[in-house]
Amino acid sequence: MSFEYDDQNIFAKILRGEIPNQTVFESEHALAFNDINPAAPVHVLVIPKGPYVSMDHFCQQAKADEIEGFMRAVGEVCKIVDVEGGFRVISNAREDAVQEVPHLHFHVIGGRPLGPILTKV
Ligand code: AMP
Repeated sequence: MSFEYDDQNIFAKILRGEIPNQTVFESEHALAFNDINPAAPVHVLVIPKGPYVSMDHFCQQAKADEIEGFMRAVGEVCKIVDVEGGFRVISNAREDAVQEVPHLHFHVIGGRPLGPILTKV
């Protein structure tokens, strides 16, 4: 499939400094900040700085240094926040997963028991 990136999405505006964020970690290729509507005591969003809509877009088209930088940022976030008890990484893509913001992001969620990942049908 083809991917079209809308540079007016809210995370693009955060990356351009047009709206504020609570930064947890920043590097050349990634930014991590607290979710504005947290689902748990720890709820950090990790985003690549490049214009990627979703995980499949990123994994198919990002350069190796972008991929490494993004994944390393997740590792750094896990050192900064308290997820010793465990955590979950979620990345929603497109309609079926109810992706609200069309810029790739990992939700790093923890700080309490999280329960099963999905309700089985
Ligand atoms: P998703 O449904 O996977 O696209 O998740 C989007 C996430 O972005 C939600 O958890 C929102 O609470 C979060 N969010 C939206 N706007 C902001 C913002 N300005 N700062 C931080 N988090 C935000």
